[in-house]
Amino acid sequence: MTHKADIVIFGSGIAGLWLFNRMKRAGYNALLLESKGIGGGQSVASQGIIHSGLKYAFAGKLNKLAESISAMPDLWRSALKGEGHVDLSAARVNADSQYLMIPKSSLGGLMGGLVKLVTKQALGNNVHEVKQADWPEEIKDSGFKGTVVFMDEPVLDAPSVIRALAEPYKECIRKIDTPDDPFGFLERHGIEAKEIVFTAAASNHEVASARSEDDGLATQKRPLLMGMMKPAPYPLYAHLVGNSDKPVATITTHEAADGSLVWYLGGGVAERDKDSDPNEVYAAAKKGFAKYLPKLDLSAVEWAVLPIDRVEGKSDIDGWMPDTPTIHSVGKTHYCWPTKLTFAPLLTERLMEKMSIGPSREASGAASDWSFLPDIDYALSPWDGVKEWTK
Ligand SMILES: Cc1cc2nc3c(=O)[nH]c(=O)nc-3n(C[C@H](O)[C@H](O)[C@H](O)COP(=O)(O)OP(=O)(O)OC[C@H]3O[C@@H](n4cnc5c(N)ncnc54)[C@H](O)[C@@H]3O)c2cc1C
Repeated sequence: MTHKADIVIFGSGIAGLWLFNRMKRAGYNALLLESKGIGGGQSVASQGIIHSGLKYAFAGKLNKLAESISAMPDLWRSALKGEGHVDLSAARVNADSQYLMIPKSSLGGLMGGLVKLVTKQALGNNVHEVKQADWPEEIKDSGFKGTVVFMDEPVLDAPSVIRALAEPYKECIRKIDTPDDPFGFLERHGIEAKEIVFTAAASNHEVASARSEDDGLATQKRPLLMGMMKPAPYPLYAHLVGNSDKPVATITTHEAADGSLVWYLGGGVAERDKDSDPNEVYAAAKKGFAKYLPKLDLSAVEWAVLPIDRVEGKSDIDGWMPDTPTIHSVGKTHYCWPTKLTFAPLLTERLMEKMSIGPSREASGAASDWSFLPDIDYALSPWDGVKEWTK
């Protein structure tokens, strides 16, 4: 028996889910296949920051990346209000905005230029210095000395974004039990599709290579050993900057399933090989906090790490990421990397320009009962997946 789909998507991270949701809303018969858990991989592990490009502009990268990403927060905000191309009204916003915390000792160096850039409001009115009297009490109490800059960038709860996109059409998200052989899986189940999209992160390149469809394709992995600490001293969403172009730590706060708050630590403390000693992450975080937030009491804190790769198209600049999403198309098969959670809407737009189907075209209205394929559940967040916290 043949099962006809308009589109089959492999990989249910943000890239696959955003595209899938748009296709379903437009009436297409879309099937989303996932090998592990819905939203798994990088998306559920992301910090949920919807970048406007400020961070990249500050790092001296006022370039194509900063420009292309600057339109994204408005698209996400429309979706969060239920007024966009997808409906994220069920998703949780952890914070409407975040801070850039520039310690006094950094103001003379690279960061001095940053402050000038900030005060000139290089990217519009969505960034301004916060007067010390208006700092959040917790920042005042932490002993921080320096400049606090408001950044109009929302921070989302990634697991709830994933659910908001997946839940309305969950019956069309199914498990692939042979992820190494995606085309064999389609053949075995008699599934035919007009368009096939791979949003399967690292697997994309492997599949393209196995099919000799990787001519001209270049990708990269950038490892991280993310830090987690709980209980979080207080909710904080901030880039704590030092003297380099990457922050000492990017701190976001997340609620674990048991109700405890976790600080999730990216930036400099996490920029290391995945198999590094976790103690290096804890030591770097403790050192940074002791220097810049000296009154923070970490005596009762427990620690954990998450080793993970960022997977994306190859950048021209070593150690940096590409300016926009990457799409490598071979006929009706498309291999895609969003580069950032933030870029998921742009990836879908660009992909729709390449496909024979899309919201501007007439949907097939074909039936979409995929219940003969195995069911699949959501991926766990990093903090809920920790087996043992370290004192
Ligand atoms: C720690 C961390 C923090 C980040 N923070 C941010 C942030 O704050 N803001 C931001 O904009 N970006 C952030 N990013 C980047 C962002 O998370 C990624 O760019 C984005 O989530 C990638 O989405 P994706 O859908 O391509 O991949 P993924 O989320 O990795 O999803 C790929 C999915 O494909 C599945 N899969 C693999 N092989 C197969 C197969 N053969 N068949 C079917 N399924 C398969 C995997 O199980 C997985 O679920 C962060 C990244 C990391 C690692």
